[in-house]
Amino acid sequence: MSEVTPCCGSSYEDSWISDCCTMEMYADSDICPACKKNADATGYICNECGNWTEDLEELSEYNARNKENHYEEMADAKRKYGE
Ligand SMILES: [Zn+2]
Ligand SMILES: [Zn+2]
Repeated sequence: MSEVTPCCGSSYEDSWISDCCTMEMYADSDICPACKKNADATGYICNECGNWTEDLEELSEYNARNKENHYEEMADAKRKYGE
């Protein structure tokens, strides 16, 4: 349910990028503006950085993937500030 973008762990919007030419498609159109063929819009746009991403990630997966970094940061902070 709680899916986020893999780049930022952020919310997203459906993209209108054609799966054939990665061109932005017009809303309510099935035609790719680049090759004028029928195309499916694919992927999502990250609300945080604006990147296009094909797949979303479960929030829990994203957190698990970033946990290591997080712990390293906390360890750094501890070394810096003592305790
Ligand atoms: Zn992002
Ligand atoms: Zn196309």
